[in-house]
Amino acid sequence: MYTEKQNTEQENYGKQINKQDNFQIFAEQKNSDCPENNQQDIVKQINSNKEIDTQNTKQQTDIRKGFDEQDTKHKINNSKEINQQNIAKQTKNHIEFKERNIEQNIVSHKKSVTQNVDRQIDIQKAIDKHDVRQCKNAHKQDNDRRNNRQKNAKPQNSKTQDTEHYHIEFMKKALELAKIAAENGDVPVGCVIVRDGKIIAEGYNRRQTDKNAVSHAETEAISSACCLLGGWRLPGCSIYVTLEPCPMCAGAIINARIPEVYIAARDSKSGAFGSVLNLRNYPLNHKPDLHFGIMETESADLLRDFFRKLR
Ligand SMILES: [Zn+2]
Repeated sequence: MYTEKQNTEQENYGKQINKQDNFQIFAEQKNSDCPENNQQDIVKQINSNKEIDTQNTKQQTDIRKGFDEQDTKHKINNSKEINQQNIAKQTKNHIEFKERNIEQNIVSHKKSVTQNVDRQIDIQKAIDKHDVRQCKNAHKQDNDRRNNRQKNAKPQNSKTQDTEHYHIEFMKKALELAKIAAENGDVPVGCVIVRDGKIIAEGYNRRQTDKNAVSHAETEAISSACCLLGGWRLPGCSIYVTLEPCPMCAGAIINARIPEVYIAARDSKSGAFGSVLNLRNYPLNHKPDLHFGIMETESADLLRDFFRKLR
């Protein structure tokens, strides 16, 4: 049982609740009735958010920029350092390479100079030796001419004999050189180059000795003569060779522009001045005059003996 006072309180409480409900309803109504307020709030909120976003983005961009700048500076510094290191390494390598090269060149040059000096000494010896012989020969020729005149020999014949004798002297020297080749176990081929009546270069086959396919008598003599005269052309020179030159040597004679070639024996296996082929028949820019048969028998015998001993 409620007292009257309790009833009144309950009633007031109910009224109060109703009043509150009504107020909430009113507020909701008011909100739903005035969407402008809400939208304004939302717009404000959005604008505020946008501003914050913009600020954030700006901050992030600034940070990123700073970071990028730092990174770039760091990269540039790194790159500079690497470049400097590389340049230093390359410079060091280059200097070392240059030094090595210079040393090699000096050694090679010294060797070449020594070889040239030795060759020139040999050539000079040969020339001196030949000079003595030539004097004797000239003296003998003078005597012969005098005798011939006394015997009323025909001048033409005398001249021919003198000329033959002149060539025989040089071919004899070539044969001596061929014998050295044979002693070394090489096929006996010898060669001299003559200028102004003097031997200026000589060579003999050194294919086995040097273990070199191009060390033929003619190439040796041609190299020596070019070295002595200081050029690749040998004008005014005659070459005396005990065996018909092979294609390589015939080519070398043509390349050196040697005008006269005196050949002792023919080579039926590799002769390139008529036996197997004739380089004179090709449209090359130089055609040497060929002379066969000087001391042919001596040269052929020497070769025959050599090959007989081999068997
Ligand atoms: Zn040859």
